[in-house]
Amino acid sequence: MSEGCLHLEGLRVGGGNGYVCPVCGERFEDLEGVRRWVREAERERDGAYPLVEGDEFAEVVLRESQREVYRRRRVMYELENAARAPFVRPEMVLVVYDGDREAYECRVFYKEPRPANAMESFSIRASQEAMLELRSDPNPIVRLLAEKVEEFHLLRGKLAGDGEPAPERRVFYASEL
Ligand SMILES: [Zn+2]
Repeated sequence: MSEGCLHLEGLRVGGGNGYVCPVCGERFEDLEGVRRWVREAERERDGAYPLVEGDEFAEVVLRESQREVYRRRRVMYELENAARAPFVRPEMVLVVYDGDREAYECRVFYKEPRPANAMESFSIRASQEAMLELRSDPNPIVRLLAEKVEEFHLLRGKLAGDGEPAPERRVFYASEL
């Protein structure tokens, strides 16, 4: 995590009930974690009231910290709305095996208009325990990705066992998802 990142690009849906900053990778366990992040900004703003009337610098600081509170609240409202939105099945999922990181990188594509805060990318460790664990994830899209990645992982294992070259990527279309 990069120190002092303000998560300016907002937060994306991650695994579990969690959210993640695409810039620094900081994770929030759930919506309550995001609410705490909002409350931090509120506390900072509450401490920023100018002690002396007409203190221009203090007023600028106050305005800035008020803006930060609004910005974080907008991020939170969006995530809250998205959490209530029904599950939208993706149009296509591209799974790429990354041998250096021993993980499967998933890119998820949706029909337009893209659902609010839909998960667009997700990485799954190339181990069956990791996949098994994610198959009971509270997030339906994570469960779906884990199932598809496991399918691909088993196929690759079988081919490698037969001495055949294993493909590094696989596209799953809507009909398979
Ligand atoms: Zn960040």
